[in-house]
Amino acid sequence: RKLGIALVGLGKYSEGELAPALEKTTFCRLAGIVTGTPDKAETWKKKYDIPDKNVYNYKTFDKIADNPDIDIVYVVLPNSMHAEYVIRAAQAGKHVICEKPMALTSDECQKMIDACKKANKKLSVGYRLHFEPHNQEMMRLGQKEVFGKVNKIIAQNAQKQENDTPWRLGGGVGGGGPLRDVGIYCLQGAIYTKGQVPIAVTAKYHPITDPKKFAKVEEGVDFQLHFADGTVAECRTSYNDQYNKLRAEAAKGWFELDPAYQYDGLKGQTSQGKMNIENVPQQARQMDAFAECVLNDKPTTVPGEMGMRDVQLIEAIFQAAKTGTKVSTKAVQQILDPV
Ligand code: NAD
Repeated sequence: RKLGIALVGLGKYSEGELAPALEKTTFCRLAGIVTGTPDKAETWKKKYDIPDKNVYNYKTFDKIADNPDIDIVYVVLPNSMHAEYVIRAAQAGKHVICEKPMALTSDECQKMIDACKKANKKLSVGYRLHFEPHNQEMMRLGQKEVFGKVNKIIAQNAQKQENDTPWRLGGGVGGGGPLRDVGIYCLQGAIYTKGQVPIAVTAKYHPITDPKKFAKVEEGVDFQLHFADGTVAECRTSYNDQYNKLRAEAAKGWFELDPAYQYDGLKGQTSQGKMNIENVPQQARQMDAFAECVLNDKPTTVPGEMGMRDVQLIEAIFQAAKTGTKVSTKAVQQILDPV
């Protein structure tokens, strides 16, 4: 039997990426939905052949505990709502995938991890690029030191943000901003390429060019991840620009992806030539990998602890940007990708 996934929050990512990806998965399928909008429920029920008994709203959500069709709850809500719904899903006895960033604070992350542990359920973060072959190649080249020791990383991710999802610019439930939303990919990319968690961070906010638009969230931020061996990852993120790159410079060559973090069309190159790697359906692979972990009772390679690691680093980056000081991150969770 394929494991049943219920998507919570039928916004852009669920509609445009996750639901279509669930038609390509081998070990899981779209079995249920949780939405506050009755019109959306009708459309999705028809489109994906979902029975009434597997349709919930935010008030009836906890009743999902009694539904054997649902094995995994996938939380795809605005960031500020992740903690509440992950904890409620765990309390309902379901395994959970939570979108990135895992939550707004590391305290919330800890509570989410604790709730899943208490319920004896697995918790994973929606880090699709860990299942994407170009990014896996960056992990291999960097961590195995194929071009020698990596001594510099450049990680940049910016997306022009209009007001189509107001929470991203701090409206409504808030919790957006480029660092949490897209800068997190730079953090991730730098860490899985270097194969280490940084010991300190420094950061500087970009000047605000549109005070009305960026009244509640940062417009952009440059941040540096300092690794124990002296390697620095130069990272940049913004809501007012467009770039998408991960590059490593090593003792005997370089390797890079540009674009690096998109859903499709990734391209890689090294100092020896093109990577020639195929693009794959990333989200289908990511969800299948988690379903396999559940089916075989194996740990996920992208656990809640990794989500918490990144939220701890984001907290440190905000602190560094606010204070203009170098902030130690030695207390951050030491979670890495095995290659
Ligand atoms: P979105 O705003 O399009 O969708 C959010 C959904 O939550 C909407 O359906 C909305 O109706 C629902 N919602 C319920 N209560 C709400 C409330 N009080 N306020 C606002 N919305 C409410 O956002 P999205 O782009 O789909 O992002 C959702 C999550 O997915 C975010 O955490 C985001 O970071 C993540 N995401 C991840 C990726 C990825 O590549 N892994 C890509 C895009 C988004």
